[in-house]
Amino acid sequence: MKIVILDGYTENPGDLTWDGFEQLGQLKVYDRTPKDQVAERIGDGEAIIVNKTALTEEVFAACPSIRYVGVLATGYNVVDIEAAKKRGIPVCNIPAYGTGAVAQMTMALLLEICHHVGEHSNAVKEGEWSDCQDWCFWKHPLMELSGKTMGIIGFGRIGQAVGQLAKAFGMEVLAYDPYERENGKAIAAYVTRDQLLARADVISLHCPLFPDTKGIIGRETIGKMKDGVIILNTSRGPLVDEEALAEALNSGKVYAAGLDVVSEEPIRKDNPLLSCSNCLITPHIAWAPLESRKRLMEIAAANLEAFIKGKPQNVVNP
Ligand code: NAD
Repeated sequence: MKIVILDGYTENPGDLTWDGFEQLGQLKVYDRTPKDQVAERIGDGEAIIVNKTALTEEVFAACPSIRYVGVLATGYNVVDIEAAKKRGIPVCNIPAYGTGAVAQMTMALLLEICHHVGEHSNAVKEGEWSDCQDWCFWKHPLMELSGKTMGIIGFGRIGQAVGQLAKAFGMEVLAYDPYERENGKAIAAYVTRDQLLARADVISLHCPLFPDTKGIIGRETIGKMKDGVIILNTSRGPLVDEEALAEALNSGKVYAAGLDVVSEEPIRKDNPLLSCSNCLITPHIAWAPLESRKRLMEIAAANLEAFIKGKPQNVVNP
C-alpha cells in the first residue's frame, strides 16, 4: 500500500511519530502541499491522508490510483466526498479525538472575554498595578457566568461537552439541533433556533459546516439575538458571515466574540474581524493539545488498517 500524507506538519510537528502508518505500507510524508502540486505528489499513491489540503473532483480525476482517503480531522469539508463516492473510494474521518479539548478551548475563549486574564497579567508586568493609586484595577467590565444562558447550536459530542462545562459554571443551557437525543436532554433544554437566538446571552457554534449551516450567524440571525450577546465559534469559520459579525461587534450589538476558526485560514490580512477590538481570534488550535493529536494519530492509523483488512471504519461517504 502506497501511503501519501500531504500535509502532516500541524498534526505532527515533531512531537509524535508516524510509526503507525509506516507499519501499514510505503509511507511518504509531506509537511504541506501547495494546491498545484497535489496531483503530482499523490502520483500512484493509494491511501491519501490529508488534514486541510483540498481533494477535489479534479484531483480524483487526475489520480486514478487512489483507493482510500483518510482525513486527519473531524470536519471533512476539504474532501469532495461525492467525487470519492462515485469512484468507490471511502473517506474516513476521526469522529472523536478532541471533544474535551475543543470544549475546554471554547470555555477558555469565554473566560477570557469575562476576565481578560492575559491582558490584566500583561498590564501588571508592565507596571500598571505598581503605579495604581488603588489596591486593584480592571481594564474591562468583568462578567459572571452563573445565571446567564448558554445557547448551543449543534448539540453533538462537542456541543454536549460544552453544555456540561457551562452547567458547571451555573449557566442555564439551551440547545438547538435538528436531531434531539435523550442524553442531550439531561444537559440542556432543546429549543427552536429562533428561541435560542432570542434567549441566549452566549451563543456557541458546534454544528458541522454544511450548505445549510454556512452563514448561520449573519445579519438576519444576529438581528434576532439579545443586545450585548457573546458569540463563540470553535467549529468552522464559514458558519459566520464575518462582515455581518464585524458590523455587529463595532456597533456593540454583539458584546464580544471568541473565534478559533475563520472563513479563510490562515486568516487574510484584510479579514474585517482583525480590526474589532472586542473579538478574540486564535489560530485554529482547539484540537491541538498533544493528548488530542496523539489520539488522532492512533485512530487515523487504525482507520487505514481497518480499510486494509476489508472492514473500513469511520466512513463518512458510505
Ligand atoms: P458531532 O457530529 O458529534 O455533532 C455535530 C452536531 O451538529 C450533531 O448533533 C448534528 O445533529 C448537529 N447538526 C447538524 N446539522 C445541524 C444544523 N443545521 N443546525 C444545528 N445543528 C446541526 O460533531 P462534533 O464532534 O461535536 O464536532 C462538531 C464540529 O466541531 C465539527 O464538525 C468540526 O467542524 C468542529 N471541530 C473543530 C475543531 C477545532 O480545532 N476548532 C476540532 C474538532 C472539531
